[in-house]
Amino acid sequence: MSTPKLTNCPKCGKLFLRVRNICEGCYQKQENDFLKAAAYLREHSGITIQELSDAVGVSVAQIRQFIWAGRILVNDFPNLSYPCETCGKMIQKGKQCSSCIETLKHLANQVEKKEEKGDRSQNRDGLAGGYIYHNL
Ligand SMILES: [Zn+2]
Ligand SMILES: [Zn+2]
Repeated sequence: MSTPKLTNCPKCGKLFLRVRNICEGCYQKQENDFLKAAAYLREHSGITIQELSDAVGVSVAQIRQFIWAGRILVNDFPNLSYPCETCGKMIQKGKQCSSCIETLKHLANQVEKKEEKGDRSQNRDGLAGGYIYHNL
């Protein structure tokens, strides 16, 4: 554990002693928001994240944070999907939708392949005009 440092709160910009990610004031507000959202959800389990946001005055991004943190269990609320971080499609699991995850995987693969080729391309070029070995 490192000693807490003075840093600016990412939410409000206030200088604070970093014992958690956000300052005490924002933390209190966040806890309040969570209690409000959780209480409202208990009464209205079929609502969407937008309806919840409007009803309790907590931003969709903040509710999404609660879901990511496992504090709101989406499984209990069939309509509580939230926007994919990358494309904004509504999802119920993780931070990105399945197609964005696929795209990312694809891109990662391409980068890997490129790096491999970079190492061996010379060998391959050398073989191109060479012998073909038959299995005898
Ligand atoms: Zn703050
Ligand atoms: Zn997406």
